[in-house]
Amino acid sequence: MLKTWGWLLLLAASSFTATAADGAADAAFARQFGDQFLDGYWRENPESGIANGYYRHADRLLVPDAGYRAHYRRYLEQTLARLAAIDPKQLSEGPRADWAILKNRLESERWGLSRFKQWQWDPSLYNVAEPFALLLNTPYAPEPQRLRTVMRRLGRVPAYYAAARAAISRPTREHTQLAIQQSAGVLEVLGRGLEVQLAGSGLSAAERTEFWARLRPARAAVQSYIDWLKALDAQLALDSSARDFRIGEALYEQKFAYDIQSGSSGKQLYERALVEKERLHARMAVLADQLWPNYFPDRAPPADRVARIGSLIARLAERHSSREGFVDEVKRQIPQLEAWVREHDLLSLDASRPLQVRETPAYQRGLSIASVNAPGPYDPTANTYYNVAPLDDYTPEQAESFLREYNHWQLQVLNIHEAVPGHYVQLLHANKSPSRIKTLFGNGAMVEGWAVYAEKMMLESGWGGREPELELLHGKWLLRVVSNTIIDYGIQVLGWSEQQVLDLIRNEAFQSETEARGKWRRATLSQVQLTSYFAGYSAIYDYRERLKAELGPRFDLKRFHERFLSFGSAPVAVIESLMRPQDAAKP
Ligand code: ZN
Ligand code: ZN
Repeated sequence: MLKTWGWLLLLAASSFTATAADGAADAAFARQFGDQFLDGYWRENPESGIANGYYRHADRLLVPDAGYRAHYRRYLEQTLARLAAIDPKQLSEGPRADWAILKNRLESERWGLSRFKQWQWDPSLYNVAEPFALLLNTPYAPEPQRLRTVMRRLGRVPAYYAAARAAISRPTREHTQLAIQQSAGVLEVLGRGLEVQLAGSGLSAAERTEFWARLRPARAAVQSYIDWLKALDAQLALDSSARDFRIGEALYEQKFAYDIQSGSSGKQLYERALVEKERLHARMAVLADQLWPNYFPDRAPPADRVARIGSLIARLAERHSSREGFVDEVKRQIPQLEAWVREHDLLSLDASRPLQVRETPAYQRGLSIASVNAPGPYDPTANTYYNVAPLDDYTPEQAESFLREYNHWQLQVLNIHEAVPGHYVQLLHANKSPSRIKTLFGNGAMVEGWAVYAEKMMLESGWGGREPELELLHGKWLLRVVSNTIIDYGIQVLGWSEQQVLDLIRNEAFQSETEARGKWRRATLSQVQLTSYFAGYSAIYDYRERLKAELGPRFDLKRFHERFLSFGSAPVAVIESLMRPQDAAKP
């Protein structure tokens, strides 16, 4: 297995030097921030390495104590100094985007350590489960080898949780309760299934004894962390010394700048979202009036526009696929979307890397209804999968509610978003100019923004025959994206209550009670992430409209798309700084 690494790294190194022939700065950047740099970064962040399919440092479990934080802080300073020694203006565009992405990443981590200090107030950060689960379930090496890696990590678990307890000070109650809940999941990963795997493995009797000698104290450390958190939570309830989960305006804007990188502020995006909500309601009311007589010939429309829209959405949801036919329906639609994109000259596709639609594998179920599983930069498998959750585990009521949500029209939007020309196609283009830095540290707002932009663009091109039903339901989908932004800013900066949030989501975005409650919870536990869809979407859309206005009839949609996607998953603001208007002009 280790031999494969050498080969992979060589391949990547040669493709990197090919682009660096342009100048001395490119060469210096490639030398200093190529795969050797990445190996060092994974050594400092072994868990992220494992999550990205890089296992060389997988046996290192770092203990998050004050010494570690001081060490990591020095590492960040030194790396930033080396980066600052390279003048980005001397770099050609690919490395220049990488340079900007790296700088933002390292500065963001430094800010997290010294200013945001989540390590102090979020006990759910301390969780050893995921790397263990990945090492146990990913066949990257023979099982005995993986179990030995797991065993070495297990030995450090007690020290890890001792450091966690020392680091936590005035946490929020929300994150404390989340940590209690998730730590129970850690015990599951280290539970019966692992015992069975160990017993059936090729480890010797002596190794198995050693394994148990580490597993028992590791489990005990997790359990005592849970007990400690429960006592802490009770104490926080009594003396109301808990930190507010709302981070406030100053931290919010800083986090927004690091995470989103769209060129606008959190406040500007919030205000833009309010305008967009109004615009969507007005447009959806027009569509609802148009559709009303077709669906309710014997009923007078309610006076309230939101009520009219809501009645129609509920009625349209009745047209949906059968429970058994759902996955096949997705499979049927992908080639149709591909043909449309080709025939309308929207983007080029790559027939050599087809998308494989499959039922979500059991170990990944329960997270989302649909997702694209793409090979990472360290993963040699070439397949890209579109996972669709089969409805086997649902009760009849759950299945019906799911099928109504992903009805005839909404399912088209979902497939555009996830697959063509959304996430899957964006990824195909990103892979054409392989940059590990862009792939590994890619910008979530650009990736999600592109998928939402793709929906809008497909509807503009006439997909679905300009049916008002499709536009109305896409409006509902966009309202979710828009309201995610409004409630994130509303909660974190403006101090909105749960009731305000529930009212907005249910009454103005047409979502269910379950969706609304889940969204409140998510918005108390995360910050800024919920805005990434709308932030990326509006930045891409605005940029395109500016280029269109500038170029007039010379604007070429396909050239704009191809050029925009050629920068990989770089932040929208970075792409804008590298693209010139003539890149989107007719040749
Ligand atoms: Zn039904
Ligand atoms: Zn997405």
